Amino acid sequence: MLEIRDLRKTYPGQGGSEAALEGVSFSVGAGQFVSVIGPSGAGKSTLLRCITGQLTADSGRILLEGTDMAALRGRKKRRLQRKIGMIYQDFCLVGCSTAEANVLNACLPELDPLSVLLGHFPKEKRKRARELLATVGLAGKEQQRADSLSGGERQRVAVARALMQSGTLLLADEPVASLDPVRAEEVLALLRQLQRDQGLSVLMNSHNVDQALRYSDRILGLRQGRVVFDGPPDAVTETVLRDIYGGETAHEAE
Ligand code: ADP
Repeated sequence: MLEIRDLRKTYPGQGGSEAALEGVSFSVGAGQFVSVIGPSGAGKSTLLRCITGQLTADSGRILLEGTDMAALRGRKKRRLQRKIGMIYQDFCLVGCSTAEANVLNACLPELDPLSVLLGHFPKEKRKRARELLATVGLAGKEQQRADSLSGGERQRVAVARALMQSGTLLLADEPVASLDPVRAEEVLALLRQLQRDQGLSVLMNSHNVDQALRYSDRILGLRQGRVVFDGPPDAVTETVLRDIYGGETAHEAE
């Protein structure tokens, strides 16, 4: 599904020895749930932003379903990028729009701008948006304004919006960090269920090791821009955590 080869990224002002990503390689299989853990500043967000195309890597390759994303331009590139949905810690919804309108926003790039301005979305898109809202447990809340929904509900709308694109790979940057523990578990369980039922691949950044271990098929440990661990959750020992977090365990670091 996704293959990352020798990815490097340096921000302006960073020297070579302190690059945000220093040759990161790994892959995410179709239908896998992979979590990236590591201390603050390890490069987790940079990695996801390079995959979505929000940032351009200095070098390395990002292959989605075998196609090198950097080799594509224009419409072909956008078509491939649309297979990647993203959810964020702060949901990134339009507060004054309804849940349904937020989900429909995912199709804006493929629709006629004038129709969109007039609020005219094709019937089948509206139907799909409502189906997805039902899938994430929000049937009956389609016309509710996003800013009147709870945090957990807002993140569900964001998940539905990500799936609306075409949803084969979901990138999640600290998706439950703003939620209370119960809501956090519910959203993670939803992602796990979508992964199992719909074959969705999930790549999630998490500062919560316990959650990452319980919900993932595989864990990537990132430290100072390098992958220092890549394996199943049950291989994540206290020693591995010390390698990733540099002496502090994740629980001590929180
Ligand atoms: P994480 O998500 O693991 O906390 P980041 O990807 O945000 O890590 O950051 C990795 C490194 O890149 C850090 O050293 C951080 O200070 C640096 N960095 C991140 N964003 C920027 C930026 N916009 N400009 C300069 N340096 C940045």
